[in-house]
Amino acid sequence: MLRAKGPLLTVDVGERTATETTIDDHLEACVGGRAVATALAHDRIPFEADPFGPENRLYLSTGPLQQSKMSFTGRMNMTGLSPLTDGLVSTNAGGYLSRNFVDTGISALEIVGESDELLAVHVTDGVDESHSSGGETASRPRVEFETVPELEGATVPETSDYIEERHGLGPEHCVVVGPAGENQVRFASVMTYDHRAFGRGGLGAVLGSKNVKCVTFEGESAPSVEIPNPPEMNVHSEAAQSEDLMRRQGTTGNTEMINEAFSLPTRYFAEYEFEHADAIGGDAVEEKKYKKGACSACAYACKLPTRDEETGLETEGPEFETVYAFGSLQGVGDIVDVMKSNDLCDTLGMDTISAGVTVAAYLASEDEFGNADLAHDVTERIARREGIGDLLAEGVERCHDELGVDSYAVKGLELAAHDGRVLNGQGLSYAVANRGGDHMYESRVMSAEYGGRIDPEGTLGKVEALVEGENEAAFRDTGIVCAFGSGYVTDERLEALFDADREDLLEIGARTVELERHFNNRRGFDREDDRLPYELPNLEAAISEYYEARGWNDDGTVPSSAIESVATADD
Ligand code: SF4
Repeated sequence: MLRAKGPLLTVDVGERTATETTIDDHLEACVGGRAVATALAHDRIPFEADPFGPENRLYLSTGPLQQSKMSFTGRMNMTGLSPLTDGLVSTNAGGYLSRNFVDTGISALEIVGESDELLAVHVTDGVDESHSSGGETASRPRVEFETVPELEGATVPETSDYIEERHGLGPEHCVVVGPAGENQVRFASVMTYDHRAFGRGGLGAVLGSKNVKCVTFEGESAPSVEIPNPPEMNVHSEAAQSEDLMRRQGTTGNTEMINEAFSLPTRYFAEYEFEHADAIGGDAVEEKKYKKGACSACAYACKLPTRDEETGLETEGPEFETVYAFGSLQGVGDIVDVMKSNDLCDTLGMDTISAGVTVAAYLASEDEFGNADLAHDVTERIARREGIGDLLAEGVERCHDELGVDSYAVKGLELAAHDGRVLNGQGLSYAVANRGGDHMYESRVMSAEYGGRIDPEGTLGKVEALVEGENEAAFRDTGIVCAFGSGYVTDERLEALFDADREDLLEIGARTVELERHFNNRRGFDREDDRLPYELPNLEAAISEYYEARGWNDDGTVPSSAIESVATADD
């Protein structure tokens, strides 16, 4: 089977040490990406760890396909213990980081400890080509620690500018936290390429708690991984020639369809459709798009660099989930207002879904739906934990009582759009997902419910598709293949690429889901946490069906005998 290559690099930012460990056993069993990071996190983060403590560990990892030039592979995985859900979370970002990460020669980076000063961490391949001669290679430090007190409170682009000026490395070489990460906003993101986010679960707050402002990656030592490339596998040219609406409008191309399906939560979940959806949906975003945007090697190029000529505002997006969280959910029907919210979140380093839902909860409590100026002001305050922002920075689950509104979160993670009250299978998916209220934990059931292949009403009889969808998503996050590429990097092509049966690939995904669940069980999660903020027909019976299909206990725990111990790497 195709696998990522290269050691794990552990960086202890408290001790300022770097250690390489061979993790061939992990790569053998888990391929790369999310599966390897989850196995490492399961074995190496103490079950009782404080998400903000030095004992929490943050993983960045690639799969084998990041060595290829194939479309839909310009992505990376990040895993850690979430300060928002209090469980293990993996999140995935595009951009141009993955190739620069691979060029350092490692398959995974682990960050542990806590620095007493704000740091930039520079990771290289340890080879200094500029001083090499006569076949001899000179060495340079694998990892350098730079204290950067001048970056305290700096935004994401300000930090990128600093790195570019001082080190000549563009934002495609960096992961960065903004003020939100430094201030441990529980839904802070880790940003790369300025606008691409490791968004869900607050891992930016984890990096911030370690006092790390940014990490850079640079080298020319990618391990060689032979990717099969049979002539019939025309992923790149098919992506380049595709006429999918998504290529022009990104994820916002679905806004109208979702609104018509009554699945676009509006005015903090009081309504199911938004009368101004057209004004903030795909056509409105396309009108503001001024050039193509992509991730590395991806000819599909579905990203959305946008500009408003009147105000001069430039950003990337909003994507659909931001249109929901800062648009319909807040009663805001002006695309430039949503673009501004999107840009604030990117600049300050926050997940747009969690931030948008939390701001919407605040607008609901103040009876201020539609007040975009207030939304922008509060968004900035959250990142800096000023005034009301300090409360809202805790996320909706922790602040809703004080606001006097309901909490629309699952396991602490603010709900994505795709209303589970209408798409009942998607509701079940939110309820049991280890990550909580996220639409990317699996999307097979949701797509089938939108497309009419599964009746959206009812929760029973959907478990088979749900389990397969979760396993598939976990494997694609392992490979790593973009979730938007499934029509091109098809199941058959995945089998050919990995030289493995689909069942074997799904098994790796299943094991990943199970390790997440086991880790969370050991932190006290059980059936009581598989809860929705609303009622659905037969939900309890459907949850039991789900546990049975997974071979778990009826209290939502994984039998200890089911946990295969993946070989533990030495510290
Ligand atoms: S399909 Fe879009 S999000 Fe996915 S890798 Fe390509 S450009 Fe990036």
